[in-house]
Amino acid sequence: MSTTPDLPVDKAPPDLRVGTATDVGLVREHNEDALLARWPVYVVADGMGGHAAGEVASALAIDVITQRLGAVGLTLPTVEDVGAAAEQANRRIVDQGRARSDQAGMGTTLTGVVAVARADGSRAWAVVNVGDSRTYRYAEGALEQVSVDHSEVQELIDLGVLAPADARHHPLRNLLNRSLGVHDDVEPDLFLLTPHPGERFVVCSDGLSDLVEDEQIAGVLRGSPQDPQLAAEALVRAALDAGGVDNVTVVVLDV
Ligand code: CA
Repeated sequence: MSTTPDLPVDKAPPDLRVGTATDVGLVREHNEDALLARWPVYVVADGMGGHAAGEVASALAIDVITQRLGAVGLTLPTVEDVGAAAEQANRRIVDQGRARSDQAGMGTTLTGVVAVARADGSRAWAVVNVGDSRTYRYAEGALEQVSVDHSEVQELIDLGVLAPADARHHPLRNLLNRSLGVHDDVEPDLFLLTPHPGERFVVCSDGLSDLVEDEQIAGVLRGSPQDPQLAAEALVRAALDAGGVDNVTVVVLDV
């Protein structure tokens, strides 16, 4: 087999570190969140569906993503591979939901950051999103939400009829207009970012972002420099301190 020496090998940069934390919360009986945090894939899935089918949906999504993007190979995936993996996860959940009546109607969000190879062989970050889990980028003291929620509330914000500050307590805040497992086809959002030294990514389920304000997330990151595990645990603790009404899952990636 011939190799292409110009392409980056599938090997994590030595300065890359990751922390993860997840908790069922203080109200729910099952943790329907799932995560994958292994080079080159850092994603969270937040499942939904009755009788613990949400757990099945998020696990199926992570399973497909692991197989498609997480396999150790010579080269990194491309941004097209990331989109194709999300579409395959969607079909897998749709098919299983149709085949098993106890899992009918299950679905899941998916978001996170994947190291990808550009056509010229350089490395970039692909942020993928379907649903209302979130991927944030933190750099030079500022937190920026990269993913855009696929929710009714976000549509109202985009239409200018709802202020972002009022979204947090809106009765429709948990209504998604895009997720994996609901329709035969899904269009995942993909954002391509140029890597910057010192940046950090936070990938989380809405069990964090519904309860903890962006400024508080930024404050936790500021207070835990170069310690992604400490940051992930502190963010989960902040969600529990704010009521812990949902499963909460956090991946912090330090570049
Ligand atoms: Ca949730």
